[in-house]
Amino acid sequence: MNELIGRVFSFQDHVFPSNSDLYGKLARDGQSPKALMISCADSRVVPEYIVQAAPGDLFVCRNAGNIVPPYSQANGGVSSTVEYAVMVLGVRDIIVCGHSDCGAMKALCKPGSTDNMPNVAAWLRHSNAALKVAEEAYPHNHDEADRARILSLENVVAQITHLRTHPSVAAAIARGELALHGWYVDIHAGEVLGLDGETGRFSPLTADRPLPVALAAGQRLAAETLQEAAE
Ligand code: ZN
Repeated sequence: MNELIGRVFSFQDHVFPSNSDLYGKLARDGQSPKALMISCADSRVVPEYIVQAAPGDLFVCRNAGNIVPPYSQANGGVSSTVEYAVMVLGVRDIIVCGHSDCGAMKALCKPGSTDNMPNVAAWLRHSNAALKVAEEAYPHNHDEADRARILSLENVVAQITHLRTHPSVAAAIARGELALHGWYVDIHAGEVLGLDGETGRFSPLTADRPLPVALAAGQRLAAETLQEAAE
């Protein structure tokens, strides 16, 4: 038997019994995860490892390229997961998590590399804005690795922009009940960078500094004067 698949017996015989109180509580009371993480499907980026999550802590959606298609009438797995996480589970934070050496981003950098994979090619079109930004806003000659890194970081920014087009997300942000985060895991260094939405920069997450936030939760103020006039 595949050695990996066989580890299910270890879960049943050891892991589950030693966490039976936690699983019992989750089975009885249901889940109330604290955050949604949308990460790449890459096997080296494990959302639960990265935030040291226990069962019940983290709602997770993974796909090639940590992509969030912009809101549309067409149904999709990511859109449905986002909507459920916000509307039903009431998560207060959504993290879009990219990473170094991302196959999806490297494919996007190489025209023709997805010619025999029509689904992948169509999916990666959701990152075309990031590709265009990476090509035109970073004019210096970069090697292949640098181009992939630039694209991965810009892709996190682009997918956060898409996330904000989803009505459930836009409304939760406007109510001041949801914050958005953009992360990048450097799998060579074991380091996580976070996007600061104010400065537009990514910097390492360290315990001695406030967590950089892409879009902080904040009450909507656009129509404040109208509300004041009505009161
Ligand atoms: Zn990836």
